Amino acid sequence: MSLTDARSAELYARARRVLPGGVNSPVRAMRSIGRDPLFVERATGVDLVDVDGNRFIDWVGSWGPLIHGHAHPKILEAVHAAAEAGTTFGAPTMVEVELAEEIASRVPSVEMIRMTSSGTEASMSAIRLARAATGREKVVKFAGHYHGHVDGLLADAGSGLATQGIPASAGVLASATAATVVVPWNDEEAVREALSGDDVAVLIVEPYPANMGLVPPQDGFLQFLREQTEAHGTLLAFDEVISGFRVGPGGAQEREDVTPDMTVMGKILGGGLPAAAFGASRELMERLAPLGDVYQAGTLSGNPLAVHAGLTSLRMLDDDAYLRLNETTTALATGLREAAGDRPVEVVSVTGLVTVFFSATPVRNYDDAKACDTEAYARWCRGLLARGIYAPPSQFEALFVSLAHEPEHVAQTVEAAAAAFESAW
Ligand SMILES: *Cc1c(COP(=O)(O)O)cnc(C)c1O
Repeated sequence: MSLTDARSAELYARARRVLPGGVNSPVRAMRSIGRDPLFVERATGVDLVDVDGNRFIDWVGSWGPLIHGHAHPKILEAVHAAAEAGTTFGAPTMVEVELAEEIASRVPSVEMIRMTSSGTEASMSAIRLARAATGREKVVKFAGHYHGHVDGLLADAGSGLATQGIPASAGVLASATAATVVVPWNDEEAVREALSGDDVAVLIVEPYPANMGLVPPQDGFLQFLREQTEAHGTLLAFDEVISGFRVGPGGAQEREDVTPDMTVMGKILGGGLPAAAFGASRELMERLAPLGDVYQAGTLSGNPLAVHAGLTSLRMLDDDAYLRLNETTTALATGLREAAGDRPVEVVSVTGLVTVFFSATPVRNYDDAKACDTEAYARWCRGLLARGIYAPPSQFEALFVSLAHEPEHVAQTVEAAAAAFESAW
């Protein structure tokens, strides 16, 4: 650390006295790359400035929501206007209806939604609904897939947990995970086995898992999940909190032409404010209170600021936006691959997401991801930060490409990456 980072150092010291680890969400502490957190002063577009005035090209984008970059003028305008009209009512508004209509028109599996304030709440509620609808208790999830910090799903979770090296969370009752079955990703035999008892309520899956680094499904795997769940009376839930509205207008389900029974959404949905949702067919969703017997609620659910930001964000995501996002993603992935040369690195990408695995062999599941050289990744990532590039401070994440990233940002990033690769081993 240089003298010029004095304000960050002082803030971090203060933060650690009043916030565990100095942060409000673990990955921000940057412990897995062995450095102190970045305290942000402000950001516009992809230009992020810390409290010491250091500037970074931001490839984290608040971990997914900022597909239009920071402080997009149209989103700011929508939020300002909404705030002037009142920040929360605890009563329905027109814009919630518009957002629900927009989502239902985009996402094939969704006829109705219920909004929440976080992805965690949305996946928790989706599972409750699935259990009620099927009269079954078991849930199947994949190792390395993350669905928020729901008790029953904190079994072998990826993302923050894997990063922090905690095998499972303390404080989660054994009874809460007793009904959770964890299977390896891309493993058909394991799925067959898990569903064979016809006693599973729901199989929940990130269709493009990005919380162990990006590990796309092998050809036909999502179709296989659809067939198997249908055959065994199990509901199929796609957690599209990251992939929804990022990999294409209607998420991974539209792109892969596999329609789940339920969909969990978040991140981009809130346009940078706290909002998430789960959705399904009308028949399933009408099991929710006040119509049905499944209780679910939230003081700030459908918050007008978040809903305005989300709707504005979605309406800017037309076909042209996805073409551009895909071009930028491909340019970045290709550039990083070239910069790595013949070093043991695998660059994986899908529209809007790129992971640089420090692995000599392809990564197909969580075990492969965990076998990556995380020490080399840490050195590479610190090297990038030192050169003004903010990439996710963990091997088990993805770079989030936005529409605010221009060719010059890709070029600067690739140049810095080449230099950082030099010092990674
Ligand atoms: C971020 C994330 C969640 C949790 O959302 P929060 O808003 O952080 O609670 C759930 N599922 C996936 C796939 C995510 O990436």
